[in-house]
Amino acid sequence: MTHDSFVHKGKRKNLVEYLRYRIGVSDENVLSAMNEVPRHLFIESIFEDFAYEDRAFPILAHQTISHPSTVAEQSELLQLKAGEKVLEIGTGCGYQTAVLIAMKGLVYTVERQKDLFDFSKKKLREMHLYPKFQSFGDGFAGLPTFAPFDKIIVTCGASVLPTELLKQLKVGGKMVIPLGPTDEQVLYRFTKISPTEIEKEEFGAYKFVPMLGKTNQ
Ligand code: SAH
Repeated sequence: MTHDSFVHKGKRKNLVEYLRYRIGVSDENVLSAMNEVPRHLFIESIFEDFAYEDRAFPILAHQTISHPSTVAEQSELLQLKAGEKVLEIGTGCGYQTAVLIAMKGLVYTVERQKDLFDFSKKKLREMHLYPKFQSFGDGFAGLPTFAPFDKIIVTCGASVLPTELLKQLKVGGKMVIPLGPTDEQVLYRFTKISPTEIEKEEFGAYKFVPMLGKTNQ
């Protein structure tokens, strides 16, 4: 299903206004990407009518598509500029991936659940959205072959800081990642200011599905 009606477009416009005025998102690159990407096509049709409300929904393999406000805030914190290389850990259904592509990032994405890897690959192709590389693997290892990256976004909550990912960040690069126990995490932005120095900023409490090791067939 790839249908995007006027009703969907209208609801999406309202969502973008909500993100701008209620959530306080101001990066036009983020807002126009979220206005472009049809979120309803990434979720099950029973949720379609609610796709443009600020809600999370179940996707395959007991995972969830993040709230639109979370996607917008993480994308804004990333400060992604056109043509930058961005590594995403946790492709899920591919919605955040699509937003990063619409922001003109060169997207490398990793997913550990085979069902979601297959689903997102098919879905993004159907929508003519092309990540630079889509990997079925364990995001804790990053993607050393394609490193270094300008930006890294982690869409699952890690209980420990994945140090391998920091290694794969360019000097001047930024990583946005939720850290903490399974029931609640704090969103952080790490900036690599020199090969050995990392600056850490904190952006409040969130609830993400856990970042797990290894892959799941
Ligand atoms: N951005 C996604 C969010 C999906 S939820 C979306 O818009 O749908 C987070 C995803 O992270 C889940 O699909 C989960 O399977 C994945 N994940 C968890 N641990 C991982 C790891 N170590 N490597 C790669 N993906 C992981």
